[in-house]
Amino acid sequence: MHIGVDLDNTILDATSAHLHYYNKASGLSLTPDDVNDFYLYRLYGWAEAERDAIYNKYGHDIHWNSSPLPMAVEILQQLFKQHQISIITARPLLFRDVTIEWLKLHKINYHNITLTENKLQECMISKVDVLIDDGPHYAEEFALVNKPVILYDQPYNLSVTNDFVYRASNWIEVKKQIEYLESKLNLINKK
Ligand SMILES: [Mg+2]
Repeated sequence: MHIGVDLDNTILDATSAHLHYYNKASGLSLTPDDVNDFYLYRLYGWAEAERDAIYNKYGHDIHWNSSPLPMAVEILQQLFKQHQISIITARPLLFRDVTIEWLKLHKINYHNITLTENKLQECMISKVDVLIDDGPHYAEEFALVNKPVILYDQPYNLSVTNDFVYRASNWIEVKKQIEYLESKLNLINKK
Protein backbone atom coordinates (compact mmCIF):
# COMPACT_ATOMS: atom_id res chain seq x y z
CA MET A 1 0.00 0.00 0.00
CA HIS A 2 0.97 3.59 -0.40
CA ILE A 3 0.58 5.18 3.04
CA GLY A 4 0.55 8.95 3.62
CA VAL A 5 1.58 10.00 7.13
CA ASP A 6 1.19 13.39 8.79
CA LEU A 7 3.79 14.59 11.29
CA ASP A 8 2.34 17.00 13.85
CA ASN A 9 0.18 15.26 16.46
CA THR A 10 0.33 12.05 14.42
CA ILE A 11 3.98 10.94 14.46
CA LEU A 12 5.04 13.41 17.12
CA ASP A 13 3.64 15.34 20.06
CA ALA A 14 3.26 18.81 18.54
CA THR A 15 0.93 20.05 21.27
CA SER A 16 3.55 20.01 24.06
CA ALA A 17 6.21 21.70 21.94
CA HIS A 18 3.81 24.40 20.71
CA LEU A 19 2.49 25.09 24.22
CA HIS A 20 6.02 25.45 25.57
CA TYR A 21 6.99 28.15 23.07
CA TYR A 22 3.57 29.79 22.81
CA ASN A 23 3.48 30.10 26.62
CA LYS A 24 6.92 31.68 26.46
CA ALA A 25 5.75 34.18 23.82
CA SER A 26 2.50 35.03 25.59
CA GLY A 27 3.30 34.75 29.29
CA LEU A 28 0.35 32.36 29.66
CA SER A 29 0.70 28.83 31.01
CA LEU A 30 -1.67 26.62 29.04
CA THR A 31 -1.41 22.85 29.41
CA PRO A 32 -2.44 19.96 27.10
CA ASP A 33 -5.73 19.75 29.06
CA ASP A 34 -6.65 23.18 27.72
CA VAL A 35 -6.34 22.07 24.09
CA ASN A 36 -9.70 21.62 22.37
CA ASP A 37 -8.92 23.28 19.04
CA PHE A 38 -6.84 21.97 16.11
CA TYR A 39 -5.62 25.58 15.68
CA LEU A 40 -3.72 25.98 18.92
CA TYR A 41 -2.95 29.66 18.42
CA ARG A 42 -6.65 30.47 18.82
CA LEU A 43 -6.42 29.41 22.47
CA TYR A 44 -4.07 32.37 22.93
CA GLY A 45 -6.49 34.80 21.34
CA TRP A 46 -4.04 35.60 18.56
CA ALA A 47 -5.05 36.70 15.09
CA GLU A 48 -3.49 34.80 12.20
CA ALA A 49 -0.86 37.49 11.51
CA GLU A 50 0.24 37.45 15.15
CA ARG A 51 0.44 33.69 15.09
CA ASP A 52 2.51 33.77 11.87
CA ALA A 53 5.07 36.13 13.43
CA ILE A 54 5.41 33.94 16.54
CA TYR A 55 5.50 30.71 14.53
CA ASN A 56 8.19 32.11 12.23
CA LYS A 57 10.26 33.04 15.27
CA TYR A 58 9.86 29.82 17.26
CA GLY A 59 8.91 27.28 14.58
CA HIS A 60 12.40 25.86 14.15
CA ASP A 61 12.73 25.22 17.90
CA ILE A 62 9.17 23.91 18.17
CA HIS A 63 9.78 21.33 15.44
CA TRP A 64 13.29 20.39 16.56
CA ASN A 65 12.19 19.85 20.18
CA SER A 66 9.11 17.72 19.51
CA SER A 67 9.10 14.12 20.76
CA PRO A 68 7.83 11.13 18.80
CA LEU A 69 4.57 9.64 20.09
CA PRO A 70 4.88 6.24 21.81
CA MET A 71 5.74 3.39 19.37
CA ALA A 72 5.48 5.70 16.33
CA VAL A 73 9.12 5.17 15.31
CA GLU A 74 9.03 1.39 15.82
CA ILE A 75 5.77 0.88 13.91
CA LEU A 76 6.87 3.18 11.07
CA GLN A 77 10.08 1.15 10.76
CA GLN A 78 7.97 -2.00 10.40
CA LEU A 79 5.58 -0.41 7.90
CA PHE A 80 8.49 0.94 5.82
CA LYS A 81 9.61 -2.63 5.06
CA GLN A 82 6.26 -3.56 3.51
CA HIS A 83 4.74 -0.35 2.21
CA GLN A 84 5.50 2.89 0.44
CA ILE A 85 5.64 5.66 3.05
CA SER A 86 5.05 9.31 2.14
CA ILE A 87 5.32 11.96 4.84
CA ILE A 88 2.69 14.60 4.05
CA THR A 89 2.78 17.66 6.26
CA ALA A 90 1.20 21.11 6.07
CA ARG A 91 4.33 22.70 7.57
CA PRO A 92 5.60 25.61 5.46
CA LEU A 93 8.66 25.14 3.22
CA LEU A 94 10.61 27.37 5.63
CA PHE A 95 10.77 24.39 8.00
CA ARG A 96 11.67 21.73 5.42
CA ASP A 97 15.30 21.35 6.57
CA VAL A 98 14.57 21.06 10.30
CA THR A 99 11.83 18.55 9.48
CA ILE A 100 14.19 16.34 7.45
CA GLU A 101 16.91 16.58 10.12
CA TRP A 102 14.40 15.66 12.84
CA LEU A 103 13.27 12.58 10.88
CA LYS A 104 16.91 11.55 10.43
CA LEU A 105 17.65 12.06 14.16
CA HIS A 106 14.74 9.82 15.13
CA LYS A 107 15.59 7.20 12.47
CA ILE A 108 12.27 7.49 10.69
CA ASN A 109 12.55 6.07 7.17
CA TYR A 110 10.27 7.18 4.36
CA HIS A 111 10.18 7.18 0.57
CA ASN A 112 8.88 10.71 -0.07
CA ILE A 113 8.16 13.88 1.83
CA THR A 114 5.80 16.63 0.71
CA LEU A 115 5.06 19.91 2.46
CA THR A 116 1.60 21.03 1.38
CA GLU A 117 -1.66 22.23 2.83
CA ASN A 118 -3.57 20.56 0.01
CA LYS A 119 -3.21 17.00 1.25
CA LEU A 120 -6.16 15.66 -0.73
CA GLN A 121 -4.71 16.82 -4.04
CA GLU A 122 -1.30 15.41 -3.11
CA CYS A 123 -2.84 12.05 -2.16
CA MET A 124 -4.82 11.93 -5.43
CA ILE A 125 -1.78 12.74 -7.58
CA SER A 126 0.58 10.32 -5.85
CA LYS A 127 -2.11 7.62 -5.46
CA VAL A 128 -1.96 7.35 -1.69
CA ASP A 129 -4.25 4.54 -0.45
CA VAL A 130 -4.71 5.86 3.07
CA LEU A 131 -3.69 8.97 5.01
CA ILE A 132 -2.84 8.81 8.72
CA ASP A 133 -3.61 12.25 10.20
CA ASP A 134 -5.12 14.07 13.18
CA GLY A 135 -6.75 16.97 11.30
CA PRO A 136 -10.57 16.85 11.51
CA HIS A 137 -10.91 18.91 8.32
CA TYR A 138 -8.74 16.45 6.35
CA ALA A 139 -10.82 13.49 7.56
CA GLU A 140 -14.01 15.23 6.44
CA GLU A 141 -12.56 16.31 3.10
CA PHE A 142 -11.28 12.80 2.31
CA ALA A 143 -14.55 11.15 3.35
CA LEU A 144 -16.42 13.26 0.79
CA VAL A 145 -14.45 11.55 -2.00
CA ASN A 146 -14.52 8.09 -0.34
CA LYS A 147 -10.85 8.07 0.56
CA PRO A 148 -9.96 6.42 3.87
CA VAL A 149 -8.20 8.26 6.67
CA ILE A 150 -6.84 6.75 9.86
CA LEU A 151 -7.65 9.54 12.28
CA TYR A 152 -5.24 9.68 15.19
CA ASP A 153 -7.27 10.56 18.30
CA GLN A 154 -6.78 14.09 19.55
CA PRO A 155 -9.20 16.04 21.76
CA TYR A 156 -10.24 18.26 18.84
CA ASN A 157 -11.15 15.47 16.39
CA LEU A 158 -13.23 13.11 18.54
CA SER A 159 -16.56 14.25 17.07
CA VAL A 160 -15.62 13.25 13.50
CA THR A 161 -17.36 10.03 12.48
CA ASN A 162 -17.72 8.60 9.00
CA ASP A 163 -17.52 5.24 7.20
CA PHE A 164 -14.19 6.27 5.69
CA VAL A 165 -12.69 7.40 9.00
CA TYR A 166 -10.79 4.70 10.85
CA ARG A 167 -9.86 5.53 14.43
CA ALA A 168 -6.59 4.94 16.24
CA SER A 169 -5.73 6.13 19.71
CA ASN A 170 -2.12 4.91 19.54
CA TRP A 171 0.34 3.48 17.01
CA ILE A 172 -0.47 -0.17 17.81
CA GLU A 173 -4.01 0.63 16.67
CA VAL A 174 -2.68 2.45 13.59
CA LYS A 175 -0.89 -0.73 12.59
CA LYS A 176 -4.04 -2.82 13.13
CA GLN A 177 -6.05 -0.43 10.94
CA ILE A 178 -3.39 -0.64 8.20
CA GLU A 179 -3.59 -4.45 8.30
CA TYR A 180 -7.39 -4.29 8.14
CA LEU A 181 -7.35 -1.89 5.17
CA GLU A 182 -4.74 -4.00 3.41
CA SER A 183 -6.89 -7.14 3.69
CA LYS A 184 -9.88 -5.17 2.38
CA LEU A 185 -7.85 -3.84 -0.54
CA ASN A 186 -6.60 -7.35 -1.39
CA LEU A 187 -10.19 -8.64 -1.46
CA ILE A 188 -11.22 -5.85 -3.84
CA ASN A 189 -8.24 -6.54 -6.12
CA LYS A 190 -9.07 -10.27 -6.30
CA LYS A 191 -12.61 -9.60 -7.51
MG1 LIG B 1 -1.25 17.00 12.20
